[in-house]
Order: sequence, then structure tokens, then C-alpha cells
Amino acid sequence: MARVYNWQIGREMSYWYPEERPQKQFAAVFDINKCIACQTCTLACKTTWTSGKGQEYMLWNNVETKPYGFYPLAWDINLLNRLDGQQWSGHHYDGRTIFEAAPEGERVLGWRPDDLDYAYPNVGEDDCAGQIENGASLSIPHMTWFYYLARICNHCTYPGCLASCPRGSIYKRPEDGIVLVDQGRCRGYQECVKGCPYKKVFFNPMTGTSEKCIACFPKIETGLQPQCFVNCIGKIRLAGWISRPEAAKADNPIDYLVHIKKVALPLFPQFGLEPNIYYIPPLHAPNSFLHMMFGPGVQEAQAAYRNAQQDLDLAGLLQLFGSTEALIPKWKREGDWVSGMNDAGAVMVKVPLKEPVHVRQPYDKLYQISRVNCP
Ligand code: SF4
Ligand code: SF4
Repeated sequence: MARVYNWQIGREMSYWYPEERPQKQFAAVFDINKCIACQTCTLACKTTWTSGKGQEYMLWNNVETKPYGFYPLAWDINLLNRLDGQQWSGHHYDGRTIFEAAPEGERVLGWRPDDLDYAYPNVGEDDCAGQIENGASLSIPHMTWFYYLARICNHCTYPGCLASCPRGSIYKRPEDGIVLVDQGRCRGYQECVKGCPYKKVFFNPMTGTSEKCIACFPKIETGLQPQCFVNCIGKIRLAGWISRPEAAKADNPIDYLVHIKKVALPLFPQFGLEPNIYYIPPLHAPNSFLHMMFGPGVQEAQAAYRNAQQDLDLAGLLQLFGSTEALIPKWKREGDWVSGMNDAGAVMVKVPLKEPVHVRQPYDKLYQISRVNCP
């Protein structure tokens, strides 16, 4: 085991391979507060990548309702139950990661789902936590809560799938940090299925190999965002590149959200993989639950998000989500306009900070017709 630094848990940790960061790391921010669970992202991915034989049950992108939704069944609580003592001191994680808690002779603390765990892809949808008494769900503040968690592979800095593969078939691309399975080398041992805590590697019984989200790398290579991003109805997603915290750049949208404003957080940082999909946590769920899922930065992130009304830069950057199919590695706000730029600084998209409101008159004098029938 090597010693590597994981900034998300504020300390060094043990990992199977030495630290070797890519030249650029693919990353994204998902704003949970805007997801409506329409599953358009799920279908956009399904029809693009997993419509073949043996892939029927695969959802490289899925959207589950928390706290009771899972795919596969109980993927997170099964591991949380095994990983005891998840204590934080501030932003320093005192507990053990899945690498440090690996049983004797194994590389990762993991578990493999049963076939039936994949039988109900949207179990728990819209199930809420809390008691509903005498119409309490209609009172403000709400007594009950749930939220939608859209998930893809996290293209982790320290992938559990990669660490657990005995054949070295999984690799992290040095040019963009995307994690892929070499289909030629894979022999279908499924150690990666066991070793990925997010359960984002799937075994294909027809090919006898494991398959996973590829971050739509053919699109990334041509400067475009992945399918699940550009088809997102709620415009909750923004793809880009993340720097290490000490090298964060204010004109990089992902750096700005994660490192500078600290409004977006990793999913289960205590697992120790340094996952690269970041979430703006929901405002309406209990902090104890959110702390378990997103780590100790929840209250700070919520405060920054609530303050976006006064914080025009943050409000402006949030407007760029879902505004273009192009990757926008740079951004800037000038007055009431926000621009997304490419690496060379050329403007790819420009959106207003506030949407103008147009009131349509009932009677259109120019064309002499009534537009609505209720003046
Ligand atoms: S398309 Fe967007 S809004 Fe719809 S479920 Fe997926 S992430 Fe949520
Ligand atoms: S989320 Fe799972 S499959 Fe994706 S890189 Fe991390 S460990 Fe591997």
C-alpha cells in the first residue's frame, strides 16, 4: 500500500497505487435542489450506451429518491454498516476509508450485490421520511422530506474499482482522469463490482466482462458535455475540470463552486475515493442525514447557496448550468451578463443574470388579433 493525499478527508491515506494525478481531471457539479426525477438523463444514457444484450439491467446514470431509494438495493447502507466509526474532527476524517478497512488479504472493503438487488431500479421513488399527521405535509415548514440523487460514475481520483482489479484491466486516463475498463484485458472476475462503493460497475453476462460509465469520452474529446448533462430537463448539471484545492482558479466554474464558494460537496467522502461528481446539497433535508452523505461542509454549502440572491457571481454561474452543449472551462460575469468560454477565451454562450419578463398584451395591435381570450 502507498500513502496518498486525499483533500476531501483532510489527510493522507493508504491506497493500492502511488498518487498519480492526471493532467486534467473530469469533474461535474449537480444541483440537487433543481432535480425533478424526470429520468431523462437515465434514458439519454441508456439509449446511447446500454441498449445491447446483457446490458438490460445496467443504468450507468440513475436517479434515486433519498432516503429510501437505491440502485442496486441498499448500495450505500450496506457499506455504511460495514464501515463503522465514521467520525470527523472538523474537516479531518478520523475513521477508516474502504482501503484502510479492507479485510486481511483484500484490497478494498466491499460487497457484491445479488442479482435480485438490481430487480427494482426505482424502488422507494417519492417515499418520504417522517410522519404525516392530520395533513401535516401541507404545513410549512414541511414535516416530511425526500430528495432526488442523480448518480453516474464519479471518475474517482482513487478508484475502488481500479484498486480491486487483479488483472490491472481498469485504468485512469492521464489526459482527463476518466476511468475505463479495458475490454480486451477484463476476464469478468467482478472484483470491481465488489470494490466500487457506488456500485457503478456492471457485469455483462453476454460478453463476460465488466462495463461502466465512460463519461461520454468521445464527446468530451470534441469539447462537448456528456449526454446525461445536455439532456437534463432541470438543468442541474455542469461538467468541467477540477484542480487541486491549492491550485483552484476563480475563472474555472467547477473550481469556483467546489473550492472557492464551497457550495458543492463530494458524495460519501469518508469512503476515501476522492470522487469527482460534486453535489449542491438540498436545503430542506435534515443536516444529520446530509452530513453522513456529503461530509462536514453541508451547512457552509447551504449558507452559500441561500446567499446566491445577494451573491451575483454565484447566481450568475448557476445560470450557466444547462445553457450549452459545449464544455465551458472558463466563465466570467460582466454586469447582468454571464459568459461561458473555451480554453482560448472565446465566448461559447452568454446568458442574462435575470430572465427578462415580457407581458404579452391580450390584444395585438400590430396584427390586429387577440392573443388570449381573457383580457
Ligand atoms: S434529467 Fe436532470 S432533472 Fe431530470 S432526473 Fe435527470 S438530473 Fe434530474
Ligand atoms: S465510482 Fe466506482 S466505478 Fe466509478 S471510478 Fe469510482 S470506484 Fe470506479
